[in-house]
Amino acid sequence: MISDLLLRAAQNKKLESLVSGNALTRGTVRRFVAGVSLQEAIRVAQRMNSEGIDVSLDLLGESVEDLAESAAATDQYIETVQTIAERAPGATVSVKLSQLGIGVDPQACAKNLDRLLEASAAVGVLVEVDMEHSSVGRPTLEAFRDALPRHPQTRLAIQAAMRHTPEDLESFTDIKPRLRLVKGAFAEPLSRALRDRKEITAQYLFLTDWILAHCPYPAFGTHDDVCIENVKKAAVAAGVGKRDFEFQMLYGVRRDVQRQLVREGYRVRVYVPFGTQWYPYLMRRMAERPANLLFFLRSVVGR
Ligand SMILES: Cc1cc2nc3c(=O)[nH]c(=O)nc-3n(C[C@H](O)[C@H](O)[C@H](O)COP(=O)(O)OP(=O)(O)OC[C@H]3O[C@@H](n4cnc5c(N)ncnc54)[C@H](O)[C@@H]3O)c2cc1C
Repeated sequence: MISDLLLRAAQNKKLESLVSGNALTRGTVRRFVAGVSLQEAIRVAQRMNSEGIDVSLDLLGESVEDLAESAAATDQYIETVQTIAERAPGATVSVKLSQLGIGVDPQACAKNLDRLLEASAAVGVLVEVDMEHSSVGRPTLEAFRDALPRHPQTRLAIQAAMRHTPEDLESFTDIKPRLRLVKGAFAEPLSRALRDRKEITAQYLFLTDWILAHCPYPAFGTHDDVCIENVKKAAVAAGVGKRDFEFQMLYGVRRDVQRQLVREGYRVRVYVPFGTQWYPYLMRRMAERPANLLFFLRSVVGR
């Protein structure tokens, strides 16, 4: 399937350097990525704030290769939260633990995460931890669990597609963390993840009810009308008010729906990626909607 090919392409370093170096792709990249610099991301955050939309800034980059790189990424994140506090209050940051070194040294990663959470708490910015491929899923969950007692407002993304997610959620029953429910964006083996879109959607609907019943201030990261409508109904049924949860969407995707939800009185937060390492992120967005690929390929060949 084309989505599988794109997800495999997302991990191909040769293709990454070929595509990233191509100036013609800039238009397509700009649809999904706020810019290469923090300043550009802040400008996007301020523009969205003026439309009543909150943001979560994501400094692009994943899977660092050594501890020096993970420490540098942590420093950049700390600079981001400090800038947010001054210039875009209310924004959160979204971080991938592979960027903070979980694949290199989980203990060093835990220290980096702690350093980021301390610096964020000092300026009143909240941190959201993305959930990545299952190869780092378990360590991510453990790092989050360890950090939670000191930083209980930290939010973790949970993937509906993963077969072990209901069990993970059960293990959170007493802790009641903040969660972001998403379908799951990575190529996973059938033994670990649901692959059928209808099954994934059904699981998303089921987990929506669970999360609304058990977790404070949840976030629902989806652009799917079926999931969105279900969240609205499930929230009413659970007695959770419109301002007591968030819809989250990706920058450049379904902007009409983002604005409509704001008009209806819901909280909306848009995930705003920025930075130079946009290639794997963009490939995952192509995989979610292969129609995007046509525009992208046209830009690569310059037509
Ligand atoms: C805020 C946020 C944070 C996320 N964090 C994570 C994470 O930490 N880990 C993770 O694995 N995944 C994450 N994801 C991605 C998620 O797992 C899905 O891959 C993605 O949201 C697509 O699923 P969907 O629920 O929108 O439904 P889909 O059924 O895929 O899409 C529904 C409709 O939305 C539109 N749409 C969806 N994606 C696109 C796109 N790329 N381009 C154009 N239109 C599109 C189309 O109209 C489509 O018909 C995140 C998503 C969001 C919104």
